[in-house]
Amino acid sequence: MADSTQEQERRTIRVGGEWLGAASGATREILDPADGRPFAVVAEGDERDVDLAVAAARRAFDAGDWPRTPVAERAALLRRVADLLVRDRERLGLLESRDAGKTLEEGRVDITCVADAFRHFADLVAAEAPGRVVDAGSPDVHSVVVHEPVGVCALITPWNYPLLQASWKIAPALAAGNAFVVKPSEITPLTTIALIDLLLEAGLPAGVANIVTGPGHTVGARLAEHPAVDLVSFTGGLVSGVKVAQAAAPTVKKVALELGGKNPNVVFADACATDEGFDTAVDQALNAAFVHSGQVCSAGSRLIVEETVRERFVAELARRAERIRLGRGTEEGVECGPLVSEQQRAKVEAYIASALAEGAVLRTGGKRPEPADMRPAAGYFHEPTVLDQCHREMRVVREEVFGPVLTVETFRTEDEAVFLANDTEYGLAGAVWTADAGRARRVAGLLRHGTVWINDFHPYLPQAEWGGFGKSGVGRELGPAGLAEYRETKHVYQNLAPKPVRWFAG
Ligand code: NAD
Repeated sequence: MADSTQEQERRTIRVGGEWLGAASGATREILDPADGRPFAVVAEGDERDVDLAVAAARRAFDAGDWPRTPVAERAALLRRVADLLVRDRERLGLLESRDAGKTLEEGRVDITCVADAFRHFADLVAAEAPGRVVDAGSPDVHSVVVHEPVGVCALITPWNYPLLQASWKIAPALAAGNAFVVKPSEITPLTTIALIDLLLEAGLPAGVANIVTGPGHTVGARLAEHPAVDLVSFTGGLVSGVKVAQAAAPTVKKVALELGGKNPNVVFADACATDEGFDTAVDQALNAAFVHSGQVCSAGSRLIVEETVRERFVAELARRAERIRLGRGTEEGVECGPLVSEQQRAKVEAYIASALAEGAVLRTGGKRPEPADMRPAAGYFHEPTVLDQCHREMRVVREEVFGPVLTVETFRTEDEAVFLANDTEYGLAGAVWTADAGRARRVAGLLRHGTVWINDFHPYLPQAEWGGFGKSGVGRELGPAGLAEYRETKHVYQNLAPKPVRWFAG
């Protein structure tokens, strides 16, 4: 017999004003990636739960107050949510660390960034003019373009930054006045469930925020195809993203896709001319590739380094990668957690094997750590891995590994560097390291990626759009475009002095 805490844990589907278990009664254990043991149980929803949640969101949108709530009040609510996130940062950061296998410090940073996203969209929406008056060329016409909420939004999120990715959808969806159903990744749903409670605590009307926990092929697929959903915003892998777009097509709903990346980190020799420059470029390449065990959509997983500095650069990078301290994210001194699942680790191992078979040279890593090298003996750990002498045809260079694997390619000319950096079907992010300001601007201008860093890697700003070229996605999150995704545009044309047209003579 389950005790009351367990019962509560299993009621993780929020439909309107109630927390429910799955209609089927099914549950799922949530595993701690640091030891592979279950530490929570959630409801395993399916299509029936989605239908109930969408109906609740539909009612809240069509007949509820939220879409008509004054913008200033909506913004104030988002700010209250940000304050609650700051209040609960330690609790939520710990939950994120345990659920996704990241370090506690990363978990804390994530929650701060989530609060920032809520504040950003509150500020953005509060500062907007209510509409754009258009000059119709006649004093008898008043013409204005306004933006309205799109309706019921289905929000589908991945496991690597569970709450952060959810917040980039939930905050703008609410700021714009929508109702939503969120589906977190089935393996990391805990902080998103917790956020729903914070939204309600902040005063969001029941039914505006709904959540269905469960797998992609049932819950996610039903959300994408649902005729009563007006928009689906998806963050995840390319294969699932294509399925979402296909499922959504017959109902012609709006679709936003934030997909994978195969992100180049281009290092020119001139960036390494001084010891300080060299140290910075190596340090940032390490961070680009291995933070969160490389399970980052914008991970700098392709090092493209000028031939003349390759040996020195890669040797230092490998030396430092070898010293990264792996372990449970909550342990003192641990710098990198495990991979999120056994499946993810198996995928990483298969890519490394294919790279070695295709001629890559292993400079460090390439295997699971020995238990003696780290604190927890079990868990889905993998050593940070540097693969030298890679080339553009290799699978490991072309496909997203999503793990602690860095490939090294080299170039001789600026043109070649740009060619290699753009030689991917993705286009999410990339960086260029150089001491030459002209070259920096030239190369940045030529890179076909949604974010380009010059002499940096990884920072993003909530005020600046995030998203990708090519197969990295459709649409943008964050910034004004990230709010526009959640809106319909309406032109209201008012004739102040109506007269007959007499187009038809009869
Ligand atoms: P995934 O595609 O396996 O799953 C993402 C979400 O989609 C999960 O909630 C999953 O249950 C759901 N899903 C799976 N199949 C579905 C289907 N047929 N219909 C509807 N929903 C479905 O991705 P993941 O492994 O959770 O996350 C890793 C991927 O996410 C990587 O490719 C990474 O690059 C990408 N990502 C991109 C960004 C970005 O901003 N572009 C950010 C984070 C992660």
